[in-house]
Amino acid sequence: MTDFVLGVDLDGVCGDYFAAFRTAVARERGVEEPSLTDDVSWDFIEWDLDSESFLDIHRRAVAEHRMFLDMPAMEGVSEALWRLSDAGVWIRIVTHRLVMNWDHRAIVSDTVEWLDSNSIPYRDICFLGRKPEVQADAYVEDAPHNIEALRGAGNSVIAFEQSYNRHIGGLRARNWVEVEEIVADLVAQHQGAFEGQLPGFDAGADRLYRHQNR
Ligand SMILES: [Mg+2]
Repeated sequence: MTDFVLGVDLDGVCGDYFAAFRTAVARERGVEEPSLTDDVSWDFIEWDLDSESFLDIHRRAVAEHRMFLDMPAMEGVSEALWRLSDAGVWIRIVTHRLVMNWDHRAIVSDTVEWLDSNSIPYRDICFLGRKPEVQADAYVEDAPHNIEALRGAGNSVIAFEQSYNRHIGGLRARNWVEVEEIVADLVAQHQGAFEGQLPGFDAGADRLYRHQNR
């Protein structure tokens, strides 16, 4: 039986990019973080950022303040991925972080360091400029354009809930407990059975249906 490969995005899925970037914007402007709304669009327009000011603050946060080294991890991500990994799921990290043409060495090394220090298991890692197929059986992703592109190519994609992707229908998880539950069901569909140690699951064949955003 072949491994079930789960493609896992980093920013906004494993790591709380929003929290780290809000810290960076507040620092740049000398304002308190709560003054920056948490109900943001994909382009952070609510924080009065345009693409130039976004890239400028993003770059300083990554290169000078090493945001990718100390970004908060999403609650429960390590435990959920370890349980899935122990149950035989192949964890493939898929990230867009090298989209900028700078500081690749620091970005790659900070990313790998962060994965270790947050105890996130993975079998392989893909740094992609864009996100075409990386031959996973299912994906966890927050970016609206990536969710739609991957689904458009026929993939199972779990939308990891963020303020900027609530308009997208289909499979959706609000946290890592729900990701784990959905993946267990997808694996069971794929392989006919799932040998996991998955705590606290409610029974019932309609779980995938109940995770649909309608
Ligand atoms: Mg992301």
